[in-house]
Amino acid sequence: MELLLHIRHNNVSDRSTHALQLLQMTGRRATATTDLQAANCIDYGKQCSRKGYFISRKAAVLIAVVYICSLVLTGLLVFYCVPRSSSSKLQASDTNLARTFRMRPQVTLPYQKTHSSNRLTTHTIPTHYRIQLVPFIMEDNFTTSGEVWITLKCLEAADNITLNINDIEVQESSVKVTQLHPKKDLSIQVVDHVYNTDAQTYSSILDQQLMPGGQYELYIKFMGHINDHLQGFYRSSYFDPETGQKRWLASTQFSPTDARRAFPCFDEPAFKARFTVSLARSANLSSLSNMPLNFTEPMSEIPGWEWDHYNETVPMSTYLVAFIISDLHSLDATMTNLSISEDSFRFTVWAREFALPQTSYAARIGPRILHYLETYFNIPFPLPKQDMVALPDFGFSAMENWGLITFRESALLYDANISTEVNKERVAEVVSHELAHQWFGNLVTPWWWNDLWLKEGFATFIGYQGLHHVEPSWRNKDQFIRDHLQEVLMLDALESSHPISVPVQHTDQIREIFDRVSYCKGASVIRMMNHFLGEETFKRGLTNYLEVHKFSNARQDDLWQQLTLQAHQDGSLPLHMTVKEIMDTWTLQTGYPVVTVTRNYLNVSAYISQERFLLSSNTITNATWWVPLTFTTQEAPDFNMTQPQLWLENVQSTVVEGLPGNTSWVLFNVHETGFYRVNYDHANWRLLISSFQQLPDVTRAQLLDDSLNLALSGRLEYRIAMDLTSQLITDVEYLPWSAALTALEHLDTMLALTPAYGNFKHIVLALLDKVYNSLQFEDRALDSHLDLLNRAQVLSWACRLDHEFCVWNAKNKYRRWMTQELEERETGPISPNQKEVVYCTAIKHGGADVWNFAWKKYQLSNVGSDKEHLLEALGCSREPWILNRYLSWITSNSSGIRKQDGARVFVTVANNVVGHSLAFNFLRDNWDALQSYYGVAFSSISRMVSAIATYMNTPLQLSQLEKLQDENADKLGTTTQSFKQAIEVVRANVQWMANSYNEVNDWLESYSKSHYL
Ligand SMILES: [Zn+2]
Repeated sequence: MELLLHIRHNNVSDRSTHALQLLQMTGRRATATTDLQAANCIDYGKQCSRKGYFISRKAAVLIAVVYICSLVLTGLLVFYCVPRSSSSKLQASDTNLARTFRMRPQVTLPYQKTHSSNRLTTHTIPTHYRIQLVPFIMEDNFTTSGEVWITLKCLEAADNITLNINDIEVQESSVKVTQLHPKKDLSIQVVDHVYNTDAQTYSSILDQQLMPGGQYELYIKFMGHINDHLQGFYRSSYFDPETGQKRWLASTQFSPTDARRAFPCFDEPAFKARFTVSLARSANLSSLSNMPLNFTEPMSEIPGWEWDHYNETVPMSTYLVAFIISDLHSLDATMTNLSISEDSFRFTVWAREFALPQTSYAARIGPRILHYLETYFNIPFPLPKQDMVALPDFGFSAMENWGLITFRESALLYDANISTEVNKERVAEVVSHELAHQWFGNLVTPWWWNDLWLKEGFATFIGYQGLHHVEPSWRNKDQFIRDHLQEVLMLDALESSHPISVPVQHTDQIREIFDRVSYCKGASVIRMMNHFLGEETFKRGLTNYLEVHKFSNARQDDLWQQLTLQAHQDGSLPLHMTVKEIMDTWTLQTGYPVVTVTRNYLNVSAYISQERFLLSSNTITNATWWVPLTFTTQEAPDFNMTQPQLWLENVQSTVVEGLPGNTSWVLFNVHETGFYRVNYDHANWRLLISSFQQLPDVTRAQLLDDSLNLALSGRLEYRIAMDLTSQLITDVEYLPWSAALTALEHLDTMLALTPAYGNFKHIVLALLDKVYNSLQFEDRALDSHLDLLNRAQVLSWACRLDHEFCVWNAKNKYRRWMTQELEERETGPISPNQKEVVYCTAIKHGGADVWNFAWKKYQLSNVGSDKEHLLEALGCSREPWILNRYLSWITSNSSGIRKQDGARVFVTVANNVVGHSLAFNFLRDNWDALQSYYGVAFSSISRMVSAIATYMNTPLQLSQLEKLQDENADKLGTTTQSFKQAIEVVRANVQWMANSYNEVNDWLESYSKSHYL
């Protein structure tokens, strides 16, 4: 799965990319969606408990009798009803089916704060599912009639079969359990039905024990809902631009725990089984699932409908099952010259009919990446087809369902005339990430979600290798350092961060770990391992791991074992060291070290020590890591040697000898392959500063990022970090500027309302002068990919800091767009890569007419990424009433802002210095409305909480944030962690203002004076 937030620093308004504001993605609090099951328990006297413990049957019956009496006394009646209006012919035909489902009085349980273990038992395990679904996708009926036959193997005697359901109504009278015998099947009586709301389970209680070794079949008829929460089986819609009609479609998002919303199942990754799916649909729609279609036949019950029967899948986890019913169109991307698997293999890309031309880029790179990965892993792709589908509504960026990858439109579609270079890179990155999952995650799956990082870290890391294969000139292996490593180094500096491998039980906790630590830190420590083991050992070890565990599950220890075996065999790791010993220090501990190099210039040695790097430097910990140490020197510079010269073997310190004298710098962590920061003594920093321009661009980026963050945490004087930063005055490369501008975000927001801001602005503009002049405002024919990215970030900062020509150009372009709209309707005078800066700058400096024009363009745009740029730019206004109106639109689905984009709108307003306090007030005043509108699955509210910390740096603001947390203490749900982190950030900001503001102000003053700014 790919997270929604993507890291790129170009947007003028997007300050949330600074990791201190870019906290983490989490889910939301549990809502009452499982109340129905709770009601079942109480209403029918079932054995159940709110905390997952079963009570005795006698007690249950007694409670039930008392409860039923009380219901009668209070006049509440159990009733049967038809689920939706039966006005249409189709619904009428489903009425009989629907009548058989009991609708119970709704009983709302208080939100369960305790995260009890709610894992399924393993006494019976599924081996096969036959699933038949009849989904109704129409304005007044979004339900599914379903049947499921599950073949089970009994491992331990048990008198019940327990599996997951959520927001599903089981037709109890239909439930059948059969013992499968070669000669004659035997029916087993179901005597009771038990629901556990918190664990999201349903149990069939049987009149006899299931016997170990026996084969059984469980049959359930049920009704589900095609919800609008973008999770489980959900609905989406779009407007046909020709007819103006709304078109509906239904799709799935089961990861991590929502397959149970679509059909009753053993919804944990370890319960792998084969699936045979049949989907009913109206003849004017089409369907897709993980496997190729076997055959289609008319549906006798509903005229004009058909059954699509799909081939049986390979063994897989429930969270990877997927299906779509839609009128989307397709582009065949099969490349016959790439001997992928067999000749009959098909690769297809799907989108709305009017967006189909935008699939061509993904169609071009998708098959090539898939083929590259087959070679990389040395294991063929095991399915006969691969579909990639762009959906109008999608909660994350993309999901790796096996053979049927789903995307939000902006992550798959690219229009060369409209989308930016950044969008193009994003498409390639997400496509590659999801294809890498087909092996890492799908073929071999983590046993449980605590090893989520294992699949996400690898998909991120290997995704970059696939990306490099199709676009080698983009230098993505180096860009990785900016996009992932340096980003997460900032986030992981918080005390409230968490280990990569983290124990989780409850679905809320599982949703919370889909964050940058799992993805970016996971990928970064894998990259470190790739370098310390060497490419060949690393790849052979991975292939062995995948071969040993394919179609099954694994833990991180299983990977460590294969890599250690290979490393010892290849001699790439000393025999006394194991990969587990090294990597446990990185995956099981929170945070990472700062390595301090203190040189002794007399005896040419250095004292090397490590301690945990924390944003707030007054916290003391004793944590240590196995740190692979690489270094190079000015006398013999070598920036390619990334295998460790020595190890800091999980101890506090060591000594390195044989270093050069005091006229030569030393540099540790070559090519930033290790997941740590490096600090030096002053003399070495000064040597590095004076040689800055002779160092490679990756190293310049590394030094800028390390020094500014060391200063931020109080470990290095700002005068050293700023002297280094001022070397950028002659730098024109993308990577150093990207690192510096991200690190300078913190200064920009801290100083924004202080007297120091004038000097800050002038100095940054002076530093940007050379790179601005070398790139200019307009795209040029010979621009490289990195030139285009560089121009976007440079213009973004220049216009933000009111660079005269930048602002003039942007306003001028926008004005021409407004006036020439009729002649140049499609693209206007603004080139794709200028869009973000032109939109935002014009809206920032313009009034309501400028804003309304962009809003109209947003509504008309057919390109997902363009819509996102417009939504972000609309938050750049400096008119409070416009910003408040804009915020008010995110709680209503009729406003034109899709639920998937609500957090994007909020964040862009919160990142605006004028909008920040409005956003805070809005969040405080609308907490309940936001919680109920956005539901539990995605991180929208968490992203909002993180964003409001951006400008907060006074004790008063800190207490306001704490008050907001306290006022909602009983309903924070899965925003608990984001509040914790936001408060830690603001506390650090307050401390920074007290400790570092004067020092920075003095440096800015003296630099301004000495450079006549
Ligand atoms: Zn992923």
